[in-house]
Amino acid sequence: MLLRLQRYNITLVYKKGKELFLADTLSRAPLTTTGTETDDLQVMTLLSISDMRLEQLKKATACDSAMQQLTDVISRGWPSHINNAPPKAHPYFAFRDELVLDRGIILKGHKAIIPKSLRAEYIQILHEGHPGIEATKRRARDVVYWPSMCLDIEQSVSGCTVCNATKAHQQKEPLKSYPPPSLPWEHIGVDLFHWNGMDYLALGDSYSGWFDFASLDNTCASTVIEVLKRQFSIHGIPRIVISDNARQFDCFAFKQFAQSWGFQHTTSSPHFPQSNGLAESSVKRAKQLLEKTKRDGSDLYRNLLNIRNVPTNPQLGSPSQRLMSRRLRTTIPTPTPLLKPAIYTRVTAQLRKRQQQQKSSYDKSAKPLRPLTPGQVVRLQSPKGHDQLGIVQKHSRNPRSYIVNAQGTLYRRNRRHLLPVPEPPPQQQHSPDFYLPPQDPLPQPAIPHAPPPQPVLTRSGRISKPNPKFT
Ligand SMILES: [Zn+2]
Repeated sequence: MLLRLQRYNITLVYKKGKELFLADTLSRAPLTTTGTETDDLQVMTLLSISDMRLEQLKKATACDSAMQQLTDVISRGWPSHINNAPPKAHPYFAFRDELVLDRGIILKGHKAIIPKSLRAEYIQILHEGHPGIEATKRRARDVVYWPSMCLDIEQSVSGCTVCNATKAHQQKEPLKSYPPPSLPWEHIGVDLFHWNGMDYLALGDSYSGWFDFASLDNTCASTVIEVLKRQFSIHGIPRIVISDNARQFDCFAFKQFAQSWGFQHTTSSPHFPQSNGLAESSVKRAKQLLEKTKRDGSDLYRNLLNIRNVPTNPQLGSPSQRLMSRRLRTTIPTPTPLLKPAIYTRVTAQLRKRQQQQKSSYDKSAKPLRPLTPGQVVRLQSPKGHDQLGIVQKHSRNPRSYIVNAQGTLYRRNRRHLLPVPEPPPQQQHSPDFYLPPQDPLPQPAIPHAPPPQPVLTRSGRISKPNPKFT
């Protein structure tokens, strides 16, 4: 202050307080001269923007024809009717009063309007850390503006590979079960399992709840078929056999077995054992029985016999009563009339009722997923996430599952494990046996009428390719 006052020659005069003017607006002496008074008001400033970003935004605004039309109309003043405004300024007409210019940048309130050439880059910045679509939109609405901003974000983020690959599991779909069988031993579920160093085959009957299992010397298809033949020789041939895609079931030998013995064979989607619940529950019960028997050192087959005689309820009777229409004789003294055959007639109705109850409780948190169409780009769910990109080839013959081509390999997957994504199709490593994209310039196979080779699925659901030596 002293330095500033150095250039003045000041004379200090003492005045009493009552001789001083009061410093209030009403008492000030009016000016004797008139002139124009200008207020230099700065309405809005972009305080929190770096110089580099400001320069970039300024340059892009100057190069953008829509932004230039907008700048002109803001500086000249808006017409009263939208039709008189420049065409590219139309999307901004509704909130024209909020628009201001600041250092070559157009602001809507406190938000910068981003010209077209920078929008993709801004979306990328707003999506840093991969918040979801809605979160990215909320972040954007808070700081920037351009017409159709939310739509642009939606389109861009829905194609983000990182977000798609790490997406949570899709919702479960309403329960779809086979209609309850009307006869004993009509629907059979079969599955292999491993317990205590041994391989077993388990099977269960949907109508009666009867289950059985047998140890296997090996897991060859022929061994499995042999065990099933023995079972079918006792109880008859079922109408439907449901299994997973294990190689023992999804092979030529099993197909032939099904054909010659006259039953329908249905396989569940890989990684989706819920669709083979019947076999799964037989495996669970077999393992439990083996474990309990091992622990108390009792007789496995007497235990199994006892379990088969346990009534489910008075109306349904026991598995043996439903399958064989009789109680089985055990070491418990049983009056002869109780061992005589008696038919249970209300089993199907009871099964239907139970199925409906299960369905309504399961469906409370389930919602159907949109069906997929051939050519659609999807991500395949694995325990790690939705890492693998593929193209839907066709609907599988089993409900809710699809054949998908991922890097030249065909997979069968349940709809729940396929996430549709708006991403560009992956580069396919063609396996001409199975997949030819429509635009593929490769020549068609020489024999036009030869049927395409049937894909063979491995236990994991991968389709194994035939060895050329044996074809
Ligand atoms: Zn992302």
